Amino acid sequence: MSAYLYTWNPDRWVWSDQQDAIFRVNNADQYDMYWSCGNTKRIEIGDLFFLMRLGVEPKGIIACGYVSSQPYYLPHWDEEKALEGKLALRTDLLFKVLSETPIVSLIYLQDKYPDRSWTPQASGFSISDEIAQELFSLIQSNRNFSFVSSDKRDIQLFAEGKAKSITYKTYDRSAIARQACIEHHGYSCSVCGFNFEEAFGLLGANYIEVHHLRQVADAGEEYMIDPKVDLRPVCANCHRMLHKKRPPLSIEELKNIITQSIRRTIVV
Ligand SMILES: [Zn+2]
Ligand SMILES: [Zn+2]
Repeated sequence: MSAYLYTWNPDRWVWSDQQDAIFRVNNADQYDMYWSCGNTKRIEIGDLFFLMRLGVEPKGIIACGYVSSQPYYLPHWDEEKALEGKLALRTDLLFKVLSETPIVSLIYLQDKYPDRSWTPQASGFSISDEIAQELFSLIQSNRNFSFVSSDKRDIQLFAEGKAKSITYKTYDRSAIARQACIEHHGYSCSVCGFNFEEAFGLLGANYIEVHHLRQVADAGEEYMIDPKVDLRPVCANCHRMLHKKRPPLSIEELKNIITQSIRRTIVV
């Protein structure tokens, strides 16, 4: 099994659903997300990845897990380049560990392995077995981040299941869809306007739930989701209320209910 270094620079790409990703990884839920792999085409399903936060302090390894797709082309992650029609090579990554702050600092790595570049311009740098082993055991021995490792076969099965269809059932929990929804609609609740960061400060920054206007259980056939049309960011309270009915209330219906109950309160 090979290992690769992927990079993330918060100044260059906004990771809109990172908070939800942390929540899911911490709850042993599956989070997989596409990530640029530079020009490296030899990456294989089941390879190990380490994600390095660069550009903005604190710098260091914030995540690790397994590569869960072959490299493939998507529109460039840099919006300007995407508008010029440029493509960039990606692989999907299945996250096993994800932390807001580094688990292994950049300074530690630079001290210990000074011959190696730890701040590459692009993702997809191959890591030697020796270093991969050390990084792996550093993370495994940290009681906040140890995880159950998977073998290549597990990841292949996961990748096969995922590749069958990017349709409703598989796509609805996908990070890609969430990311697109939040990029378009933002972090405030579509029903009541509640914003977690305004209410909770840093703790609530970049947090929001995502609601599917078309209900999973009621969808007869599988279909593609358009994140802008089919998904809405909602706060936890409104989300619960939407699902008191099946099929769920529409955003408009719940807005009306809130307006009416406010009126009633004022009258009383
Ligand atoms: Zn709300
Ligand atoms: Zn929902």
